[in-house]
Amino acid sequence: MPIALGSAARQDAVAGQSLKTALEGSLAIPLDDTALVNVDFHLHTTESDGKLSPAELARAVAAAGLDRFAVADHDTLAVYERHTAAFASMRARMVTGVEVSTNTGEREVHILGYGVPPDAPSLHEILCDRTAVRRGRAERIVELLRKAGVPITMDDVGRQAGNGMIGRPHIARALVDVKAARDISDAFDRYLGSGCAAYVPSSATTPAQAIRAINDSGGVSVLAHPTRNNAEELLDDLVRAGLMGIEAYSPSHTEHDTERLRILARKVGLVMSAGTDFHAPTEANPRPGVDVPAEDLAGFLKLIDAAPSRQR
Ligand code: AMP
Ligand code: ZN
Ligand code: FE
Ligand code: FE
Repeated sequence: MPIALGSAARQDAVAGQSLKTALEGSLAIPLDDTALVNVDFHLHTTESDGKLSPAELARAVAAAGLDRFAVADHDTLAVYERHTAAFASMRARMVTGVEVSTNTGEREVHILGYGVPPDAPSLHEILCDRTAVRRGRAERIVELLRKAGVPITMDDVGRQAGNGMIGRPHIARALVDVKAARDISDAFDRYLGSGCAAYVPSSATTPAQAIRAINDSGGVSVLAHPTRNNAEELLDDLVRAGLMGIEAYSPSHTEHDTERLRILARKVGLVMSAGTDFHAPTEANPRPGVDVPAEDLAGFLKLIDAAPSRQR
């Protein structure tokens, strides 16, 4: 099978370093030719809408034995500012991450940033007012829900969100609690999703602005869950804006999705990353981690290892 390598890994081969040597150096594990690595570069904590605290997530990461990982909370780097102690024993395998919510037209696009310094000025510029913006948005959603006849309050939402960034999943949980929705997915289908009565976009930042801020910080910009909202259609524009990678591996992808994304990545010169978008253990995904052929990760690993906050 042809090997789909990102541009960085290809440069490596040109420079004469074997792919296997480069990968073994990055992962600090010996590899055979067919090695799968178990990684997860898309984890959430209670600092955004994950259900596990940073300490609980660290235990889940340790139990899963991930080779490399990143927490990528929505619109905040708080984990890297306040909770690094929780991950102290696994620093060598961790890379910093953030998932920036953006909008273009009616479409919501999530851009992941890796290896970013937690104090990067370019990122602080686009994230600094997010706590307030997200709170204002939640108030607006609650107002729209009340207009639609759902008796829900900001206190109900606040109880779900704790001290972290408020997101729609918190509102969805509150809707389930007051029995206005059967489950989270019903809450999104009936009220919170795009096109619904209580839909409010989360951000005025465009994908191009997020990509620029991540790249300017020295980090690696990656398109999250490319099959969602048909984000793939935007790929050419995103690549022109400086996008470096695509989340090609996810348990939510069919084999066909992954193969298409591998081909696409190779065609447009993007590295491939992998993540489960882990918010909590579920029946379908009880633990973080996705198995990826090591060769497919080579380009991404090389970029994050060269980024300012590789945490190694
Ligand atoms: P927000 O950042 O507040 O716009 O919320 C986005 C988050 O809501 C996503 O990261 C998902 O975790 C979750 N989400 C979005 N759509 C759905 C859906 N249809 N069902 C369940 N969760 C969803
Ligand atoms: Zn989320
Ligand atoms: Fe996302
Ligand atoms: Fe996510």
